[in-house]
Amino acid sequence: MAYKFVDNYREKGARKKLVEILKERGISDAKVLRAIAKVPRHFFFDETFWNQAYRDIAFPIGDGQTISQPYTVAYQTELLHIQKGDKVLEIGTGSGYQTCILMELGAEVFTIERQSNIYARTIKVLPGMGYHAHFFLGDGSKGIEQHAPYNKIIVTAGAPFVPELLLKQLRIGGILVIPVGDEKSQKMITVIRVSENEYDRIELDTFRFVPLVGDQAW
Ligand code: SAM
Repeated sequence: MAYKFVDNYREKGARKKLVEILKERGISDAKVLRAIAKVPRHFFFDETFWNQAYRDIAFPIGDGQTISQPYTVAYQTELLHIQKGDKVLEIGTGSGYQTCILMELGAEVFTIERQSNIYARTIKVLPGMGYHAHFFLGDGSKGIEQHAPYNKIIVTAGAPFVPELLLKQLRIGGILVIPVGDEKSQKMITVIRVSENEYDRIELDTFRFVPLVGDQAW
C-alpha cells in the first residue's frame, strides 16, 4: 500500500544531514546510521511540523508522550548489537519510529504500548509504511511472557529499577538496554545475561525519558 505522505529529495537530504550530526555526536555503527538514513521520520509527525522531523530533538506526539530524539534511538540501538533474525522485545512503542529502526536492522520486533490511543495510531501507521511488527497493548514492565525468551530487550521509558521479569525473559547471551533513575534523569544501563543466574551490568550516559508506568515500574 502506498503511504499517503511523500518522501522526496528534500527529506532524504535532511536525513543525510541528521546522520552527519549523529556521527559527530559519536554514533559509529554503520548499520544503525543506514537505518536512520532510510526511515522517514517525518511520517511520524503531523504535516504542520515536518520542518522539525530531522532535528536531533524529541518531539511531542500527543497524550503527554514523545517521539524519542534520534540520538537516543541510535544510542540505544547501537547498544543492542542487533543481528538479522534477532527476536526483540520493545517496551514503549510510542510513535513506532524506534520499532522501524530495529526492523531495518533485520529484527523481529514484539512491541508493547500501555496507552490505547497511541497504540491505535501506531498499529495503523507502521503497516502502512511496510513495517509489520507484533503489536501489543498493555503493561510492558512485566514483559511479554508468552513470546519469551528474547535475544534483545529495549525499554524506551525511564524505569525506577531493572524489572526482574525482564531479566528472566532474556535469552542467555541476550542484551537488555534500559534507562534507570528518578523522574528527572536516568542512566542508560546495559545488562547481558551471561548464564541462567548471572548477569553483567554496565552503567553508561545520562538521559531524560518519560516514565515507565506499570506494575514493575513507577
Ligand atoms: N521509542 C518511541 C519512539 O520512537 O517514538 C518513544 C517512546 S516514548 C519516549 C515512551 C513510551 O512508553 C510512551 O508511549 C509511553 O506511553 C510508553 N510506556 C510507558 N510505560 C509503559 C509500560 N509500562 N508499558 C508499555 N509502554 C509504556
